[in-house]
Amino acid sequence: MNKSISLLGSTGSIGTQTLDVARNLGLRVTALSAHSNVKLLEQQTREFKPKRVSIGEEYYSQLKTALSDTEVEILCGDEGVLELAETDESETLVNAVLGMKGLRPTVAAALKGKKIAFANKETLVAGGKIVTDAVTKGGAVLLPVDSEHSAIFQCIQGGTKIKKILLTGSGGPFLGQSKEYIKDVTPEMAIKHPRWNMGKKISVDSASLMNKGLELIEAVHLFNVEPEKVEVVIHPQSIVHSMVEFEDNAIIAQMGTPDMRLCIQYAITYPERLPSPANNLDLFGKELTFLKPDEETFPLLALAKKAISKGGNIPAVMNGANEEAVKLFLEHKIGFTQLFDLVINATENACFISEPNLEDIIQSDKTAREYVASHI
Ligand code: NDP
Ligand code: MG
Repeated sequence: MNKSISLLGSTGSIGTQTLDVARNLGLRVTALSAHSNVKLLEQQTREFKPKRVSIGEEYYSQLKTALSDTEVEILCGDEGVLELAETDESETLVNAVLGMKGLRPTVAAALKGKKIAFANKETLVAGGKIVTDAVTKGGAVLLPVDSEHSAIFQCIQGGTKIKKILLTGSGGPFLGQSKEYIKDVTPEMAIKHPRWNMGKKISVDSASLMNKGLELIEAVHLFNVEPEKVEVVIHPQSIVHSMVEFEDNAIIAQMGTPDMRLCIQYAITYPERLPSPANNLDLFGKELTFLKPDEETFPLLALAKKAISKGGNIPAVMNGANEEAVKLFLEHKIGFTQLFDLVINATENACFISEPNLEDIIQSDKTAREYVASHI
């Protein structure tokens, strides 16, 4: 296939699955970026032969030595990622970076009018309006990779007006458990997702239901709907990946096996559909159930709703506090419900900025992380 991509976050869960799609479709890969995984980035560079790669500053000399027999240009640090996002000549930029670090590169690529296959939800949660304004200004296109948002995007191909988005979620590994039970769960239990195989951070977010909160905010920005029009529906089987209700009360759902490669591929080949490595879905013998989320046991979903209603810098504060708290939880430094308390307190104690600029967002994120780090 005569298409090309550049890929930020190539060594992660979405990154490696994107390269699977590239391999399968025969896409040209013009640039790759990673943070710390020198070995895998070296392998990927040898296989896909990009013109340029970028790695975290502290790993630069290691990568340079490893690739000294090749022609590839090696960049590093935040500046390296930014340069790839801004100047790469590929058709589609796939942003699979983890966390708020993806904000500056996303804004830069949007201002250059790029087509962006977008997985990096934290960036949209924190920088919402700044990102969507940059997209409009630059004439860029954001194509959703997150499975629910890909589903919604597929459901609205008819182009009708959205009455409501039904955002589905599996409920994570602790679905149906009590507040008492989840107090003592370990990171190892939290990252064992029943349906999807994902990176550690998003797995913890799925266990706390923060992921659904982040996705609700992501949907508000991607589809330009009011937060009240997005309803979270727990669907443990992960067969329906989200639904859209239209003006006439018809509901369209997108279904399939849980395989991110389908979503990644659709974002890259849109509007074309091509054979994909995802298995086909056999519906016989399957049951579909839909439940209301338990926001009392999992209060971060309710917090996310409050944060997007308040707007301004508050979603950025919540997201930054959550990124820091998840890191501490994964390092066994705090408990699971302590993570909830820290994120709620950081968000509720933040100074409100109603019309934040990019620097305000970055500062709010930093302050929220410091709040969490200093309150454990
Ligand atoms: P991973 O942790 O598996 O991968 C993250 C990637 O980002 C790696 O390539 C990592 O490099 C790189 N990275 C980490 N920190 C930095 C940094 N400071 N600067 C530049 N690059 C960095 O995450 P996932 O693939 O799971 O998630 C990526 C994004 O996609 C997230 O926003 C997530 O919410 C979203 N997403 C993920 C899904 C999934 O199924 N995994 C589903 C839907 C959305 P290295 O490994 O070399 O350190
Ligand atoms: Mg998702």
